[in-house]
Amino acid sequence: MSVAAPPAAPVPFIDLAAQRRRLGDRVDRAIAAVLDHGKFIMGPEVDRAEAALAAFCEAGHCISCASGTDGLALGLMAWELRPGDAVLVPGFTFAATAEVVAWLGAEPVFVDVRPDSFNLDPAGLEAGIAAARKCGLRPRAVMAADLFGQPADYDAIAEFARAHDMAVFADAAQSLGARYKERPVGTLGDFTATSFYPPKPLGCYGDGGAVFTEDPERVGPLISLREHGYGSDKYDHVRIGMNARFDTIQAAILLEKLAIFPEEIAARQTVAARYGEGLADIVTVPMVMDGSTSVWAQYTIRVPQGRRAQIVAGLKARNVPTAVHYPRPLHRQAAFARYPVAEGGLPVAETLAETVLSLPMHPYLQPDLQDSVIAAVRAVVADVQAFSGNPSS
Ligand SMILES: *Cc1c(COP(=O)(O)O)cnc(C)c1O
Repeated sequence: MSVAAPPAAPVPFIDLAAQRRRLGDRVDRAIAAVLDHGKFIMGPEVDRAEAALAAFCEAGHCISCASGTDGLALGLMAWELRPGDAVLVPGFTFAATAEVVAWLGAEPVFVDVRPDSFNLDPAGLEAGIAAARKCGLRPRAVMAADLFGQPADYDAIAEFARAHDMAVFADAAQSLGARYKERPVGTLGDFTATSFYPPKPLGCYGDGGAVFTEDPERVGPLISLREHGYGSDKYDHVRIGMNARFDTIQAAILLEKLAIFPEEIAARQTVAARYGEGLADIVTVPMVMDGSTSVWAQYTIRVPQGRRAQIVAGLKARNVPTAVHYPRPLHRQAAFARYPVAEGGLPVAETLAETVLSLPMHPYLQPDLQDSVIAAVRAVVADVQAFSGNPSS
């Protein structure tokens, strides 16, 4: 067991500076090349990034865009989501997953998640459909989110969706590079959207995103929607679209980062395995489903109910920063309070919101520093348990 002392200085939660040092001047040169050619909007790097991303995740088509949120919205627009339509979404995720549904005047219907994977529970979809129908809504899609880097259970979700004539959307903002039953993220939904927000596993130096689809018929509409719904030319508009282009400078940066991404994923998996070995006997460590891999956007443990604030404070005092993803489920947020919730409520989402805790996680977390984080977590959890007189959770 780890006997390292707690870290002497605050540990970076995500260390983008370490990655920047590794990349050296490659990013600077890539940016300089864009400044030289001057094609800041839809320049050649955008095409190259789309081709490289599609190849990376073995997807039929990649349409880049301005953010992960825009990517989700573009997919829903291409699916022609309308007022009166419902999309079943997990209650435990980042707001964007549900927000885009409301943008289009449709309604997110919240369903519960699994306690082990944190992802949408396929067994809860039936209750979601019932809630949608009770409100007079047409269920048109399921939107799963791949929390913390692990794909949702897409076979079970797709089977249910097909039976009800619904599309499957994958919010893969956190999971690009992961696999589900040997299949890569990017190919698991009818539409998959990902994000290049800097702290994501594959980030650029600003906002960015992409949509993946296997269906060539969807490519034209997605490209048109990305630029004001253009038709035969720039000033012919055949759809209500948006401005959601991926910036050329960000595309140039992304190409450099994508080159080292497979090694970074392997490094994240090594870090996750070390946490698992060091912590599994004292807290609930995250699991990965059989046949899946995770890219560990976060390493999120569960701590005993009612003890999280003490643990966070104890870790902070020992130079270990933490984060809570997510402190409140979406159906409990003011912005989403008016939308339907599956019958029986979302007890798992509510418990997770009170008990999850994310630890420092990035590909450059060195073993000795990580051991000191593990030692700090062990010491703080042991203190809290001794204080409560309750050694088990
Ligand atoms: C980050 C994130 C998004 C949004 O991505 P942006 O690029 O910031 O718009 C959507 N869904 C989930 C689950 C995310 O983590």
